[in-house]
Amino acid sequence: MIVHYYTQYDAHIKNLAKRHRIRIQTRNKLLTSIGRDMLHAESNKWHRYIVIPDINTEENYLTALHEIGHILHPLGTYGDFRFFTDDTSLTEEAAAWSWAFTKSKIDVKPEECDFAKFCYGTYYKNAAKMGYVKPYHYTHPTMREVNNMHQLLTNN
Ligand SMILES: [Zn+2]
Repeated sequence: MIVHYYTQYDAHIKNLAKRHRIRIQTRNKLLTSIGRDMLHAESNKWHRYIVIPDINTEENYLTALHEIGHILHPLGTYGDFRFFTDDTSLTEEAAAWSWAFTKSKIDVKPEECDFAKFCYGTYYKNAAKMGYVKPYHYTHPTMREVNNMHQLLTNN
């Protein structure tokens, strides 16, 4: 069900994609069949595309911004040289959420923050299992910003 209210957010995503030459693939049908726990969205920096659900909820809007953040934030996908450790993906996740929250046209309310925490939490739990939970370097301004987002998404 497309709610008219979300048209401006859909337009925001399409404008960003156009301006930065990012292709959009939507995957709403799959999303509704597998449910939120299996939320599927992805990005590819080199091929410049994102796979996102239709923009008909605030969560989907933030998800779309998050996927664009993986492409446009300097640390959103920095794995030219992947370390093959989960601290890399945590940094990328925090960077992409930071980008999404900064660019969002909705003020990030507790519900949206909870949603981001839920998504980040899936990566975080995995990283914790592997022993990578706080790998950040604090000196670079961008890393501080990413670290702040990491703290926001992990602290209650
Ligand atoms: Zn992500």
